[in-house]
Amino acid sequence: MLQRYDALVVGAGGAGLMAALQLSKQGHVAVLSKLYPTRSHTGAAQGGIGAALGNMEEDHWEWHMFDTIKGSDYLADQDAVEILCREAIETVYDLEHWGLPFSRTPEGKIAQRPFGGHTREFGKAPVRRSCYAADRTGHMILQTMYQQCIKDDVQFYNEYHVIDLLVEQGRCAGVVAICLETGEIHTFQAKAVIFATGGFGRIFRVTSNAHALTGDGMSVVLRRGIPLEDIEFFQFHPTGIYKMGILLSEAARGEGAILRNRNGERFMERYAPSLLDLAPRDMVSRAIYREIQEGRGINGANYVHLDFTHLGRDVLDKKLPDITDFVRTYMGIEPAKELVPVQPTAHYAMGGIPTDNDGRVVIDDKNTPVPGLYAAGEAACVSVHGGNRLGTNSLVDILVFGRRSGRHAADFIKKNEFVPLGANPEERAREMVQRLTTNNGKERAGDVRGTLQDEMMEKASVFRDAKTLSAMREKLHEIRDRYNHVKVEDRGTKYNTELLEVIELGSLIDVAQVLVESALARQESRGAHFREDFPKRDDPNWLKHTLAYLGPKGIEFKYKPVKITKFEPKERKY
Ligand SMILES: Cc1cc2nc3c(=O)[nH]c(=O)nc-3n(C[C@H](O)[C@H](O)[C@H](O)COP(=O)(O)OP(=O)(O)OC[C@H]3O[C@@H](n4cnc5c(N)ncnc54)[C@H](O)[C@@H]3O)c2cc1C
Repeated sequence: MLQRYDALVVGAGGAGLMAALQLSKQGHVAVLSKLYPTRSHTGAAQGGIGAALGNMEEDHWEWHMFDTIKGSDYLADQDAVEILCREAIETVYDLEHWGLPFSRTPEGKIAQRPFGGHTREFGKAPVRRSCYAADRTGHMILQTMYQQCIKDDVQFYNEYHVIDLLVEQGRCAGVVAICLETGEIHTFQAKAVIFATGGFGRIFRVTSNAHALTGDGMSVVLRRGIPLEDIEFFQFHPTGIYKMGILLSEAARGEGAILRNRNGERFMERYAPSLLDLAPRDMVSRAIYREIQEGRGINGANYVHLDFTHLGRDVLDKKLPDITDFVRTYMGIEPAKELVPVQPTAHYAMGGIPTDNDGRVVIDDKNTPVPGLYAAGEAACVSVHGGNRLGTNSLVDILVFGRRSGRHAADFIKKNEFVPLGANPEERAREMVQRLTTNNGKERAGDVRGTLQDEMMEKASVFRDAKTLSAMREKLHEIRDRYNHVKVEDRGTKYNTELLEVIELGSLIDVAQVLVESALARQESRGAHFREDFPKRDDPNWLKHTLAYLGPKGIEFKYKPVKITKFEPKERKY
């Protein structure tokens, strides 16, 4: 089946919806999403969106820029960070004008609260920069954006799962997708495609990420010869509910909650004497693991406590209603009175599909674009987060760069014609589906996925070294081999969610492989990538971005320089 649009957006989270809004003004546009749009993970974001509005105290986008670059451990591209922090401000006001119900100050301005790594005067003390709607900021963003898209008649194909990208004559020509309801394969021809498919936290056992975050978009482009950038940098958020990984937003610590070890000690005093619990996430997660390794986890187990007890019921009810409810529901604990068990949880992909500042996908160290192909949001790497993202900066990223990619693509579709499709555009997709649905192996997808997640957690998470990563490389060979013997029991076509899970597992394995190989190659520690065998940052050799390609013999690398404009790399102390 063939459909034709000027432009397609794959993904209906914040990034995809923002891009679609721009495009809808220019041409015939469709959004393809494997989920109903308002179920996208953006809706789970709790803590807030960062912008130097200065509503509560003095603040400037230059301070925001400095914090983001320092937080990134100097790997972020500084020209892109400047755009992020400048455009954050108008983006938040746009959301306000579209009706987003922000929490307010007594005089009616958008309220702001502190978040990890956000400071005033280039690192002096925490600043209140995160704009929020209680602890449901992402939910409100997603609903607001979706309403705007409906108003602008954006066309949605919900529960369409994209499985291939079409490239003709070096230009993007469209995508191939499976419709969940019918099982039919559809080709969508387009002049421009924007991938906004989100992250891949599901490669790890303990994660804050929704089940659908399986790195599909990254894997689809990787298989078509496009590299992935900086995938070794994966963020663990310090405070997931113990064993479950459900996120307790940094807004908790922003509002004053404190991390404590088995002795009741506020251990962050030893790791980040000035920012304490509000140090960047990579540092706090490592501190928690160190406490656990040195025997100061609670009852000798691998968790610590988050203490809300001094905040008072009123603050919890007004500012953190959802997360304190999670604690009551999932743990049976009353956070106003009892300590809450937490451990780091796999949260955010700093790396992704490489793009320039207009969202154009670039394929080499010279930033050569693929005409018509764009990426935005967590699936993309601009790079504004470098080695470690600050809290509240993803919601800014998805909207600022969702908009920029949408605008650039709108211009592109005006100036360019369709590229003709090849003779049989669906061939590769059909072959894959055929192979998976006729396989009579003995493996089950859930078991293979479980092994992948456990092994990645143990060998490639917060701490890594050559030994654990090489062992993981071997495991991935076994896992891939088992994957080739997975049997899809459901041989039907309608609502075959089992088939889609197997396809998603293939994506998870691809992305995990890129992560492990990139992490093995990078012989230094920077941001969220910590090598026990190379514990120092090494700027002379490694101040550069990884570009990982899927070659005939496995993963191959190129590297590209980091763009430094205003802030020379310095030692990172908080
Ligand atoms: C629990 C939690 C709390 C967070 N809190 C904050 C916060 O307070 N502040 C902050 O800045 N960041 C926060 N983050 C991070 C932030 O929410 C995400 O990085 C961001 O929302 C990602 O948006 P996105 O538009 O890129 O992707 P998503 O919102 O993840 O959307 C991805 C879209 O892609 C579609 N898709 C994926 N694969 C396919 C496919 N194969 N075919 C078709 N469609 C596909 C999905 O259907 C979905 O619509 C949080 C994240 C989590 C998990």
